[in-house]
Amino acid sequence: MIYLDHNATTPIAPEVFDAMLPYFTENWGNPSSSYRFGSKLKSAIETAREQVAQLLGASPREILFTSCATESNNAAIHAGLKAFPQKRRVITSAVEHSSVLTYCSTLESEGVRVTYLPVDRDGLLKLSDLEAALTTDTAIVSLMWANNETGVLFPVQEISQLCRAHGVLFHCDAVQAVSKVPINVSKIAFDYLSITGHKFHAPKGVGALFIRRKTPFSAFIEGGHQERGLRGGTENVALIVGLGKAAELAQKNLSDYDVAVRHLRDMLENEILHSIPNTELNGHKTNRLANTSNITFSGVESEALLMLLDQEGICASSGSACLADSSEPSHVVKAMSPFSASSREIIRFSLGFKNTRQEILTTIASIGKSVAVLRG
Ligand code: PLP
Repeated sequence: MIYLDHNATTPIAPEVFDAMLPYFTENWGNPSSSYRFGSKLKSAIETAREQVAQLLGASPREILFTSCATESNNAAIHAGLKAFPQKRRVITSAVEHSSVLTYCSTLESEGVRVTYLPVDRDGLLKLSDLEAALTTDTAIVSLMWANNETGVLFPVQEISQLCRAHGVLFHCDAVQAVSKVPINVSKIAFDYLSITGHKFHAPKGVGALFIRRKTPFSAFIEGGHQERGLRGGTENVALIVGLGKAAELAQKNLSDYDVAVRHLRDMLENEILHSIPNTELNGHKTNRLANTSNITFSGVESEALLMLLDQEGICASSGSACLADSSEPSHVVKAMSPFSASSREIIRFSLGFKNTRQEILTTIASIGKSVAVLRG
Protein backbone atom coordinates (compact mmCIF):
# COMPACT_ATOMS: atom_id res chain seq x y z
CA MET A 1 0.00 0.00 0.00
CA ILE A 2 1.13 3.54 -0.78
CA TYR A 3 -0.61 5.80 1.71
CA LEU A 4 -0.97 9.40 0.52
CA ASP A 5 -3.95 10.42 2.65
CA HIS A 6 -2.38 11.69 5.87
CA ASN A 7 -4.81 14.62 6.10
CA ALA A 8 -7.57 12.02 6.55
CA THR A 9 -5.81 10.09 9.29
CA THR A 10 -2.37 8.79 10.27
CA PRO A 11 -1.07 5.49 11.63
CA ILE A 12 -0.57 5.21 15.40
CA ALA A 13 3.12 5.65 16.22
CA PRO A 14 4.63 2.57 17.95
CA GLU A 15 5.74 4.76 20.88
CA VAL A 16 2.15 5.98 21.27
CA PHE A 17 0.80 2.44 21.17
CA ASP A 18 3.31 1.30 23.81
CA ALA A 19 2.46 4.25 26.06
CA MET A 20 -1.28 3.50 25.87
CA LEU A 21 -1.13 -0.26 26.31
CA PRO A 22 -0.92 -0.45 30.15
CA TYR A 23 -4.06 1.68 30.36
CA PHE A 24 -6.01 -0.96 28.43
CA THR A 25 -4.64 -3.80 30.55
CA GLU A 26 -3.50 -3.41 34.16
CA ASN A 27 -4.36 0.30 34.71
CA TRP A 28 -8.06 0.17 33.98
CA GLY A 29 -9.39 2.05 37.02
CA ASN A 30 -11.58 5.14 37.08
CA PRO A 31 -9.47 8.28 37.63
CA SER A 32 -12.26 9.83 39.72
CA SER A 33 -12.17 7.00 42.31
CA SER A 34 -10.86 7.86 45.75
CA TYR A 35 -8.69 4.71 46.15
CA ARG A 36 -5.22 4.74 44.62
CA PHE A 37 -5.90 2.09 41.95
CA GLY A 38 -8.14 4.68 40.28
CA SER A 39 -6.85 8.02 41.46
CA LYS A 40 -3.24 7.32 40.41
CA LEU A 41 -4.48 7.56 36.81
CA LYS A 42 -5.03 11.28 37.36
CA SER A 43 -1.27 11.78 37.14
CA ALA A 44 -1.16 10.03 33.74
CA ILE A 45 -3.85 12.44 32.51
CA GLU A 46 -1.96 15.42 33.90
CA THR A 47 1.28 14.31 32.23
CA ALA A 48 -0.57 14.15 28.92
CA ARG A 49 -2.02 17.60 29.57
CA GLU A 50 1.50 18.94 30.07
CA GLN A 51 2.71 17.28 26.85
CA VAL A 52 -0.14 18.76 24.80
CA ALA A 53 0.32 22.16 26.46
CA GLN A 54 4.02 22.10 25.60
CA LEU A 55 3.33 21.40 21.95
CA LEU A 56 1.01 24.41 21.78
CA GLY A 57 3.00 26.76 24.03
CA ALA A 58 0.08 26.79 26.46
CA SER A 59 -0.22 26.25 30.19
CA PRO A 60 -1.61 22.80 31.17
CA ARG A 61 -4.66 24.42 32.78
CA GLU A 62 -5.59 25.79 29.36
CA ILE A 63 -5.99 22.30 27.85
CA LEU A 64 -9.34 20.50 27.84
CA PHE A 65 -9.45 16.91 26.58
CA THR A 66 -12.30 16.10 24.21
CA SER A 67 -13.40 13.14 22.10
CA CYS A 68 -12.37 14.66 18.76
CA ALA A 69 -11.93 17.95 16.93
CA THR A 70 -15.57 17.94 15.87
CA GLU A 71 -16.43 18.20 19.57
CA SER A 72 -13.70 20.80 20.17
CA ASN A 73 -14.97 22.95 17.28
CA ASN A 74 -18.63 22.69 18.33
CA ALA A 75 -17.75 23.37 21.98
CA ALA A 76 -15.71 26.50 21.20
CA ILE A 77 -18.39 28.11 19.03
CA HIS A 78 -21.04 27.14 21.59
CA ALA A 79 -18.95 28.75 24.37
CA GLY A 80 -18.44 31.95 22.37
CA LEU A 81 -22.17 32.37 21.83
CA LYS A 82 -22.97 31.55 25.47
CA ALA A 83 -20.45 34.15 26.64
CA PHE A 84 -22.28 36.96 24.82
CA PRO A 85 -26.00 36.10 24.82
CA GLN A 86 -26.83 39.48 23.27
CA LYS A 87 -24.51 38.86 20.32
CA ARG A 88 -26.02 36.46 17.82
CA ARG A 89 -23.49 36.35 14.96
CA VAL A 90 -20.73 33.90 14.10
CA ILE A 91 -18.18 34.60 11.38
CA THR A 92 -16.55 31.68 9.61
CA SER A 93 -15.43 30.88 6.06
CA ALA A 94 -16.91 28.97 3.15
CA VAL A 95 -14.03 26.47 3.24
CA GLU A 96 -14.15 25.27 6.85
CA HIS A 97 -14.43 21.61 7.79
CA SER A 98 -17.95 20.16 8.08
CA SER A 99 -17.54 20.08 11.88
CA VAL A 100 -17.79 23.88 11.79
CA LEU A 101 -20.08 24.34 8.78
CA THR A 102 -22.73 21.81 9.84
CA TYR A 103 -22.81 23.20 13.38
CA CYS A 104 -23.13 26.74 11.98
CA SER A 105 -26.02 25.65 9.82
CA THR A 106 -27.77 24.21 12.91
CA LEU A 107 -27.14 27.48 14.72
CA GLU A 108 -28.70 29.37 11.79
CA SER A 109 -31.85 27.29 12.15
CA GLU A 110 -31.92 28.46 15.78
CA GLY A 111 -31.74 32.13 14.80
CA VAL A 112 -27.98 32.75 14.95
CA ARG A 113 -26.69 34.79 12.00
CA VAL A 114 -23.63 33.30 10.30
CA THR A 115 -21.32 35.14 7.90
CA TYR A 116 -19.37 32.84 5.54
CA LEU A 117 -16.28 34.67 4.27
CA PRO A 118 -15.40 33.87 0.65
CA VAL A 119 -11.97 32.83 -0.61
CA ASP A 120 -10.24 33.61 -3.91
CA ARG A 121 -9.01 31.18 -6.58
CA ASP A 122 -5.93 30.48 -4.44
CA GLY A 123 -8.04 29.64 -1.40
CA LEU A 124 -6.98 32.79 0.46
CA LEU A 125 -9.32 35.06 2.34
CA LYS A 126 -9.20 38.85 2.36
CA LEU A 127 -8.60 40.44 5.75
CA SER A 128 -10.65 43.42 4.57
CA ASP A 129 -13.65 41.04 4.18
CA LEU A 130 -13.18 39.89 7.76
CA GLU A 131 -12.83 43.45 9.01
CA ALA A 132 -16.02 44.49 7.22
CA ALA A 133 -17.87 41.49 8.66
CA LEU A 134 -16.87 42.19 12.27
CA THR A 135 -20.11 43.88 13.30
CA THR A 136 -21.02 44.70 16.90
CA ASP A 137 -23.37 41.69 17.04
CA THR A 138 -20.48 39.23 16.44
CA ALA A 139 -19.72 36.86 19.32
CA ILE A 140 -17.03 34.68 17.78
CA VAL A 141 -14.92 34.18 14.66
CA SER A 142 -14.12 30.57 13.77
CA LEU A 143 -11.47 30.19 11.08
CA MET A 144 -9.13 27.32 10.37
CA TRP A 145 -5.34 27.54 10.26
CA ALA A 146 -4.63 25.07 7.45
CA ASN A 147 -7.25 23.80 5.03
CA ASN A 148 -7.66 20.03 5.09
CA GLU A 149 -8.33 19.79 1.33
CA THR A 150 -5.79 22.23 -0.10
CA GLY A 151 -3.35 22.85 2.76
CA VAL A 152 -3.78 26.62 2.26
CA LEU A 153 -2.84 28.59 5.37
CA PHE A 154 -4.99 31.41 6.71
CA PRO A 155 -3.20 34.45 8.24
CA VAL A 156 -4.05 33.54 11.83
CA GLN A 157 -1.80 36.20 13.39
CA GLU A 158 -3.57 39.02 11.53
CA ILE A 159 -6.99 37.43 12.11
CA SER A 160 -6.34 37.26 15.85
CA GLN A 161 -5.29 40.92 15.92
CA LEU A 162 -8.45 42.01 14.11
CA CYS A 163 -10.60 39.97 16.49
CA ARG A 164 -8.86 41.45 19.54
CA ALA A 165 -9.25 44.97 18.19
CA HIS A 166 -13.00 44.40 17.80
CA GLY A 167 -13.47 42.60 21.14
CA VAL A 168 -14.55 39.40 19.38
CA LEU A 169 -13.48 35.89 20.43
CA PHE A 170 -11.32 33.92 17.98
CA HIS A 171 -11.54 30.15 17.63
CA CYS A 172 -9.08 28.40 15.34
CA ASP A 173 -9.46 24.89 13.96
CA ALA A 174 -5.77 23.94 13.98
CA VAL A 175 -6.35 20.26 13.21
CA GLN A 176 -4.26 20.20 10.05
CA ALA A 177 -1.65 22.68 11.29
CA VAL A 178 -0.61 20.81 14.41
CA SER A 179 2.60 18.79 13.98
CA LYS A 180 3.12 20.39 10.53
CA VAL A 181 3.78 24.03 11.45
CA PRO A 182 4.94 25.50 14.78
CA ILE A 183 2.08 26.56 17.05
CA ASN A 184 2.66 28.94 19.92
CA VAL A 185 -0.44 30.29 21.58
CA SER A 186 1.65 32.76 23.58
CA LYS A 187 2.56 34.50 20.31
CA ILE A 188 -0.86 34.52 18.61
CA ALA A 189 -4.02 35.68 20.38
CA PHE A 190 -6.22 32.62 19.92
CA ASP A 191 -9.03 32.36 22.45
CA TYR A 192 -9.79 28.74 21.54
CA LEU A 193 -7.82 26.29 19.38
CA SER A 194 -8.86 22.77 18.37
CA ILE A 195 -6.70 19.74 17.67
CA THR A 196 -7.32 16.02 17.21
CA GLY A 197 -4.99 13.09 17.85
CA HIS A 198 -5.52 10.97 14.77
CA LYS A 199 -3.96 13.54 12.43
CA PHE A 200 -0.61 13.22 14.19
CA HIS A 201 -0.15 9.56 15.05
CA ALA A 202 -2.39 9.24 18.11
CA PRO A 203 -5.56 7.16 17.93
CA LYS A 204 -8.94 8.33 16.68
CA GLY A 205 -11.46 9.45 19.29
CA VAL A 206 -9.35 11.86 21.32
CA GLY A 207 -8.81 15.57 20.85
CA ALA A 208 -8.19 18.73 22.81
CA LEU A 209 -9.34 22.30 23.01
CA PHE A 210 -7.02 25.07 24.12
CA ILE A 211 -9.01 27.65 26.09
CA ARG A 212 -7.01 30.74 26.95
CA ARG A 213 -6.94 31.59 30.65
CA LYS A 214 -9.86 33.84 31.61
CA THR A 215 -11.64 33.19 28.29
CA PRO A 216 -15.26 32.27 29.02
CA PHE A 217 -16.16 28.61 28.59
CA SER A 218 -19.28 26.71 29.45
CA ALA A 219 -19.46 22.94 29.23
CA PHE A 220 -20.68 21.57 25.91
CA ILE A 221 -21.03 18.08 27.39
CA GLU A 222 -22.64 18.39 30.79
CA GLY A 223 -22.38 15.77 33.48
CA GLY A 224 -19.86 15.00 36.21
CA HIS A 225 -16.98 17.07 37.52
CA GLN A 226 -14.32 15.67 35.20
CA GLU A 227 -11.99 18.14 33.48
CA ARG A 228 -12.63 20.65 36.32
CA GLY A 229 -16.33 20.61 35.48
CA LEU A 230 -15.70 21.76 31.90
CA ARG A 231 -16.57 18.40 30.30
CA GLY A 232 -18.62 15.65 31.86
CA GLY A 233 -17.78 12.00 31.17
CA THR A 234 -15.20 9.55 32.52
CA GLU A 235 -11.86 10.36 30.95
CA ASN A 236 -10.61 8.01 28.24
CA VAL A 237 -7.29 7.57 30.01
CA ALA A 238 -5.56 5.36 27.44
CA LEU A 239 -6.38 7.64 24.53
CA ILE A 240 -5.46 10.76 26.48
CA VAL A 241 -2.09 9.18 27.32
CA GLY A 242 -1.69 8.42 23.59
CA LEU A 243 -2.49 12.02 22.65
CA GLY A 244 0.11 13.24 25.14
CA LYS A 245 2.79 10.93 23.77
CA ALA A 246 1.95 11.91 20.18
CA ALA A 247 2.24 15.57 21.16
CA GLU A 248 5.69 14.91 22.62
CA LEU A 249 6.78 13.14 19.41
CA ALA A 250 5.30 15.88 17.21
CA GLN A 251 7.29 18.49 19.07
CA LYS A 252 10.49 16.46 18.69
CA ASN A 253 9.90 15.87 14.95
CA LEU A 254 8.57 19.27 13.97
CA SER A 255 11.85 20.69 12.67
CA ASP A 256 12.36 17.66 10.38
CA TYR A 257 8.80 17.51 9.08
CA ASP A 258 9.03 20.12 6.33
CA VAL A 259 12.27 18.73 4.95
CA ALA A 260 10.91 15.19 4.98
CA VAL A 261 7.70 15.82 3.06
CA ARG A 262 8.10 18.97 0.96
CA HIS A 263 10.52 17.69 -1.69
CA LEU A 264 8.47 14.52 -2.24
CA ARG A 265 5.22 16.51 -2.44
CA ASP A 266 6.83 18.92 -4.91
CA MET A 267 8.20 16.06 -6.97
CA LEU A 268 4.74 14.45 -7.19
CA GLU A 269 3.00 17.74 -7.93
CA ASN A 270 5.48 19.08 -10.49
CA GLU A 271 5.61 15.79 -12.36
CA ILE A 272 1.80 15.60 -12.60
CA LEU A 273 1.37 19.25 -13.60
CA HIS A 274 4.13 19.06 -16.24
CA SER A 275 3.52 15.66 -17.73
CA ILE A 276 -0.29 15.31 -17.66
CA PRO A 277 -2.17 17.84 -19.82
CA ASN A 278 -5.13 19.79 -18.40
CA THR A 279 -4.15 19.52 -14.78
CA GLU A 280 -4.21 22.42 -12.37
CA LEU A 281 -3.18 23.05 -8.78
CA ASN A 282 -5.93 24.07 -6.36
CA GLY A 283 -4.61 26.34 -3.66
CA HIS A 284 -1.83 28.86 -3.30
CA LYS A 285 1.50 27.62 -4.65
CA THR A 286 3.57 28.58 -1.62
CA ASN A 287 1.27 29.65 1.24
CA ARG A 288 0.34 26.08 2.05
CA LEU A 289 1.25 23.03 4.13
CA ALA A 290 4.35 21.19 2.91
CA ASN A 291 2.55 17.84 2.62
CA THR A 292 -0.63 18.66 0.68
CA SER A 293 -1.32 18.84 -3.03
CA ASN A 294 -4.81 19.22 -4.47
CA ILE A 295 -4.94 18.83 -8.24
CA THR A 296 -7.74 19.10 -10.81
CA PHE A 297 -7.63 16.51 -13.60
CA SER A 298 -9.98 18.07 -16.16
CA GLY A 299 -12.47 15.66 -17.67
CA VAL A 300 -11.68 12.92 -15.14
CA GLU A 301 -14.19 12.08 -12.38
CA SER A 302 -12.40 11.99 -9.01
CA GLU A 303 -14.13 8.78 -7.94
CA ALA A 304 -13.13 6.89 -11.11
CA LEU A 305 -9.50 7.92 -10.76
CA LEU A 306 -9.43 7.07 -7.05
CA MET A 307 -10.82 3.61 -7.85
CA LEU A 308 -8.07 2.90 -10.39
CA LEU A 309 -5.42 4.17 -7.96
CA ASP A 310 -6.92 1.97 -5.24
CA GLN A 311 -6.54 -1.05 -7.51
CA GLU A 312 -2.82 -0.23 -7.62
CA GLY A 313 -2.73 0.03 -3.81
CA ILE A 314 -2.55 3.83 -3.75
CA CYS A 315 -4.65 5.67 -1.16
CA ALA A 316 -5.57 9.28 -1.90
CA SER A 317 -8.88 11.14 -1.71
CA SER A 318 -11.11 13.65 -3.42
CA GLY A 319 -11.38 15.88 -0.36
CA SER A 320 -12.47 15.58 3.23
CA ALA A 321 -12.71 11.98 4.47
CA CYS A 322 -15.71 13.03 6.57
CA LEU A 323 -17.69 13.72 3.39
CA ALA A 324 -16.22 10.97 1.20
CA ASP A 325 -19.46 8.97 1.20
CA SER A 326 -21.52 11.91 -0.08
CA SER A 327 -21.92 12.59 -3.78
CA GLU A 328 -21.47 16.32 -3.21
CA PRO A 329 -18.53 17.98 -4.98
CA SER A 330 -15.84 19.56 -2.80
CA HIS A 331 -17.25 22.71 -1.17
CA VAL A 332 -13.67 23.95 -0.78
CA VAL A 333 -12.74 23.82 -4.47
CA LYS A 334 -16.23 25.07 -5.35
CA ALA A 335 -15.68 28.12 -3.13
CA MET A 336 -12.35 28.74 -4.88
CA SER A 337 -13.66 28.22 -8.38
CA PRO A 338 -17.46 28.57 -8.34
CA PHE A 339 -18.06 28.40 -12.11
CA SER A 340 -15.94 25.41 -13.01
CA ALA A 341 -16.64 21.69 -12.91
CA SER A 342 -13.33 21.12 -11.20
CA SER A 343 -14.81 20.42 -7.77
CA ARG A 344 -15.74 16.93 -9.07
CA GLU A 345 -12.39 16.35 -10.80
CA ILE A 346 -9.89 16.69 -8.01
CA ILE A 347 -7.52 14.47 -6.11
CA ARG A 348 -5.93 15.39 -2.79
CA PHE A 349 -2.57 13.87 -2.02
CA SER A 350 -1.34 14.33 1.55
CA LEU A 351 2.06 12.94 2.43
CA GLY A 352 3.55 11.80 5.72
CA PHE A 353 6.96 11.28 7.27
CA LYS A 354 7.32 7.71 6.09
CA ASN A 355 6.59 8.16 2.37
CA THR A 356 9.51 7.33 0.14
CA ARG A 357 10.85 8.53 -3.22
CA GLN A 358 10.08 5.13 -4.70
CA GLU A 359 6.44 5.38 -3.60
CA ILE A 360 6.15 8.78 -5.26
CA LEU A 361 7.69 7.48 -8.50
CA THR A 362 5.24 4.55 -8.52
CA THR A 363 2.34 6.94 -7.88
CA ILE A 364 3.37 9.27 -10.70
CA ALA A 365 3.48 6.33 -13.12
CA SER A 366 0.10 4.98 -11.95
CA ILE A 367 -1.61 8.36 -12.24
CA GLY A 368 -0.31 8.90 -15.76
CA LYS A 369 -1.58 5.47 -16.80
CA SER A 370 -4.97 5.81 -15.06
CA VAL A 371 -5.71 9.31 -16.41
CA ALA A 372 -4.88 8.11 -19.93
CA VAL A 373 -7.31 5.18 -19.52
CA LEU A 374 -10.10 7.42 -18.19
CA ARG A 375 -9.64 10.09 -20.85
CA GLY A 376 -9.71 7.34 -23.49
N1 PLP B 1 -11.19 19.99 11.26
C1 PLP B 1 -10.41 19.64 10.23
C2 PLP B 1 -9.69 20.72 9.47
C3 PLP B 1 -10.24 18.30 9.88
O1 PLP B 1 -9.46 17.96 8.85
C4 PLP B 1 -10.93 17.32 10.64
C5 PLP B 1 -10.82 15.88 10.30
O2 PLP B 1 -10.94 15.49 9.17
C6 PLP B 1 -11.74 17.74 11.70
C7 PLP B 1 -11.85 19.07 11.98
C8 PLP B 1 -12.53 16.74 12.54
O3 PLP B 1 -11.69 15.97 13.32
P1 PLP B 1 -12.26 14.69 14.12
O4 PLP B 1 -12.28 13.58 13.14
O5 PLP B 1 -11.31 14.47 15.22
O6 PLP B 1 -13.62 15.07 14.60
